[in-house]
Amino acid sequence: MSSFVIGFPRIGEKRELKFALESYWSGKSDFSEVEKVAKELKQRHWGYQRDAGVDVISVNDFSLYDNMLDTAIMLGAIPARFRDLKDENLYFSMARGNKDAVAMEMTKWFNTNYHYIVPELTTNDSYKLNATKIINEYKEAKEFGLEKIKINIIGPVTFLALSKRVDRGDTFELLGKILPIYEELLSELSKLDDKVIVQIDEPYFVKDLEPKELSLIKPTYDKLATLADNVKVIVATYFEHAREAVKVLVNTPIIGIGLDFVHGRDNLEILDIVAKSGKKLFAGVVDGRNIWINNIEKSVELLNDIAKTVDKENVCVGSSCSLLHSPFTLEYEEKLSSEIKSWLSFAKEKLQEIVIIEKLFRGKDLNDAQKALLEANKEANETRKTAEIIHDKAVQARINGDIKLERDDKFEDRIKEQHARFNYPTLPTTTIGSFPQTPEVRKARRDFKKGEISQEEYENAMKAYIDDCIAFQEEADIDILVHGEPERNDMVEYFGEQLKGYAFTQNGWVQSYGSRCVKPPIIYGDVSRPKPMTVDWMTYAQSKTNRVMKGMLTGPVTILNWSFVRDDIERSEVSKQIALAIADEVNDLQNAGIKMIQVDEAAFKEGYPLRTSKIPTYEAWAVRDFKICVAPAVADTQIHTHMCYSEFNEIIKTIEAMDADVISIETARSGNELLKIFAKSGYKQEVGPGVYDIHSPRVPSVEEIVEQIEKLLEVLPKEQLWINPDCGLKTRKWEEVKPSLKNMVEAVKIVRAK
Ligand code: GLN
Ligand code: ZN
Repeated sequence: MSSFVIGFPRIGEKRELKFALESYWSGKSDFSEVEKVAKELKQRHWGYQRDAGVDVISVNDFSLYDNMLDTAIMLGAIPARFRDLKDENLYFSMARGNKDAVAMEMTKWFNTNYHYIVPELTTNDSYKLNATKIINEYKEAKEFGLEKIKINIIGPVTFLALSKRVDRGDTFELLGKILPIYEELLSELSKLDDKVIVQIDEPYFVKDLEPKELSLIKPTYDKLATLADNVKVIVATYFEHAREAVKVLVNTPIIGIGLDFVHGRDNLEILDIVAKSGKKLFAGVVDGRNIWINNIEKSVELLNDIAKTVDKENVCVGSSCSLLHSPFTLEYEEKLSSEIKSWLSFAKEKLQEIVIIEKLFRGKDLNDAQKALLEANKEANETRKTAEIIHDKAVQARINGDIKLERDDKFEDRIKEQHARFNYPTLPTTTIGSFPQTPEVRKARRDFKKGEISQEEYENAMKAYIDDCIAFQEEADIDILVHGEPERNDMVEYFGEQLKGYAFTQNGWVQSYGSRCVKPPIIYGDVSRPKPMTVDWMTYAQSKTNRVMKGMLTGPVTILNWSFVRDDIERSEVSKQIALAIADEVNDLQNAGIKMIQVDEAAFKEGYPLRTSKIPTYEAWAVRDFKICVAPAVADTQIHTHMCYSEFNEIIKTIEAMDADVISIETARSGNELLKIFAKSGYKQEVGPGVYDIHSPRVPSVEEIVEQIEKLLEVLPKEQLWINPDCGLKTRKWEEVKPSLKNMVEAVKIVRAK
């Protein structure tokens, strides 16, 4: 075994799987059409890997929806509400729900933007093997002509760690029920061939494992690795170092360990242990979750370093994690400048890098195409060091110069001036920013982008929408207004498009969940703001009302976490650059008379590192950069922030340190439970806990909202509370939004009167 990839993306370079699935779901085609597309994609992707020269190729990295869901099906972990269903109806109902049963929960896969289906387990259920998908895929790959195959499966420890028990108990208690199914699976797989290689993914091993969790590893892998002589087990870890788990794994009969040397450099410290064990090392040296070209020479150096400790024969070369988290290929990018393009490498291009690195490492000859690629790689890495479009002297001077790190006044003083200025009532009402994105609004934006309508026509359309939003909010008697965000397709893209240092792809789609893909913008160079980004829209909106109009920005940490970020400088540096660009906008807004400004940090929590020891560093720069971006705000400018979750127990002090005057959060679904931490920790700033859930089309009644507000008042004093929905309203319809907000205001009036 010499070169490998942990896994390959499956949605297709033209998102073929997405379109096939959505057509089937909407009843426009049969399931056989989905199967046909799936088969074509699998073969095409195997072909790409084989043709690039990758040595061992995966099966079962493909999925029609999600690998965790596939694993649940494989284990027979079917929640009771779906048990009458079969085959594709069962599968897609679990993923998406149906008219009788709600979908299973979905959540983020470690610190990526991929979302998996959360398996639901109970202690009473008995589990039963269903190996059909895996066996079929293996046979398909054989028929296709693949020779060296590895079968990817998600490991039992990770599976249990990411599942939930319906009775909220400890999922690891179910290992005794789940492990026998894995054993049975491996026995089945042993029948497939003379020698069967299984890659068992255990990304959970890169977390800080409790002693109890660590103690599960040895018995599990002692069993799985000895089930059949011809089944060889590799345990793959990724996204961080797995030092603690490796120390245990080396004492089990597995044949190899996969370690990430891109995002888990600390893995270098346990090489001697791996070396002593004589196991194969699957070294991830090409970043599977970013889009930059590899520095091939450096990777070879790194491997040579590794080979000083680990026997070279035992070192295999591959991707740091599944390429699922990268876009597909650069081939369809026609608009990117050739210079920027030369610095990028998507999944298909990464295959070439892996193969070249492996050959150089082993002293094998490159073919002519590979020689040319290597030259191009060297040159691109050189130009990236000095290119003017990346390195902006003015930005660097500013970053290294005197930066205003925080506001001049303390919260206690600011808030008095703000109350004097705005004079808002007790329990002030507001919304989170966006109003329904109607088909007309989307069309106008699209037409303008394509050049089909003029700037003036576009602006008029947006202004008309803003007028409507204002008229409605005044009619509903909301205290603090918003303009509705019609000009924004996406809260990060909108700012990225106006910032220097940002690039956009045409086809850089990455699977987010199921058939959904996102196309994150790319931060390739030093970031700055050539001109104001929101001031004209905001001043227009303010000119249309006597009420306070709240400005609306996206914060630096969220912009960072939802973009592909350059890897030639620290993330915290990039974040600081963005913070300064946003600070300019804050300043321009307040000078233009917009004195209440919301800076959304919807993805603040998403950026948290997987290892506890790294959290303080992240928090330090994330808080620093939020504070930098609002530092220009004078005492009577009120800064709001918004975060899309309600679980603040562990980070409440950090949130407080961000020093926003008002924070709005999502709480409707949890009553007042999750708000309690704000009271308990003595949080002093004002808080707007969502009073109704915006994820559902349901219109909440006045009574219900009154009740919710009263619950909130049990936790925090009325002086500290704002009243707003959970999140932005862009995905809702006006028919839902109008009565909901009217009921919200009605409810507040009833509570105020009491
Ligand atoms: N201001 C944004 C909106 O209202 C916030 C979105 C978000 O929190 N995800 O849409
Ligand atoms: Zn939100």
